[in-house]
Amino acid sequence: MAFKDIVEAKQFCKLYALAKKVELVVVKSDKKRLRYTCVVDGCPFLLLIYGDLTTPEVSVKTLVDHIECGTTYDNSLVDYSTIALYFKDKLQSDPKYKVKEMKADLHRVFELNVSEAKCKRAKKEGLLEAIRTVLLEAHQRYCARHIKANWCKRWGKGEMTKLLWWAAWSSFTEQFEDQLQEIKEVNEEAGQDLIDKYPPKAWCRAYLDTVCKNQVVDNNITESFNAWILEARYKPTIGMVEDIRIKIMERLAAK
Ligand SMILES: [Zn+2]
Repeated sequence: MAFKDIVEAKQFCKLYALAKKVELVVVKSDKKRLRYTCVVDGCPFLLLIYGDLTTPEVSVKTLVDHIECGTTYDNSLVDYSTIALYFKDKLQSDPKYKVKEMKADLHRVFELNVSEAKCKRAKKEGLLEAIRTVLLEAHQRYCARHIKANWCKRWGKGEMTKLLWWAAWSSFTEQFEDQLQEIKEVNEEAGQDLIDKYPPKAWCRAYLDTVCKNQVVDNNITESFNAWILEARYKPTIGMVEDIRIKIMERLAAK
């Protein structure tokens, strides 16, 4: 069995652990090699994946199966990205699929205990992935104000808030790198957490594409529009569109 790169191989191993209900131990994991054993003492399980150094491709070289290892109810190898990957199609066809249902389904199908927080993150990632699949060309932006709300909750407000906004407003990449460095000087871990969780391509001005002709890094305008049409939103489609049309006409006339 071959994979296009080590990232794909890793994803596969995590899905394998989920599907087989076994907990694997990562013995080795680097850019070219993966080596897993079983968490159960004395189990001969061994999964070795590697490739030659000329291409990113890797393949399964050794697979020794488990002997009766029993089911794992808490599987540390199964992270939120694995769950997101597993539920990707489900979320694409049913975006309203609830976190509670996800948790219950994981328990029913794989006898796995997963926290609601993990499912919540998996749902978020799965939805983003589904959007990427459906709207291949679409350019996505994150709202910097929401990033601020979540990130500052963990790493502190005040100085950090200011630095984050300066980072978001950076209009060229070197400037962004400098701002990020400033954050890292205050707290190295906070800076790393910021770029790990929120890819700068989606919220820093320097990386925004030129197809969408604006440089807004928050979604204040959409949220205030949403609030402005709140009443209309409860109406059936035709009535709603008609209400919005009248609201816009009145506003244009008033301005
Ligand atoms: Zn085993």
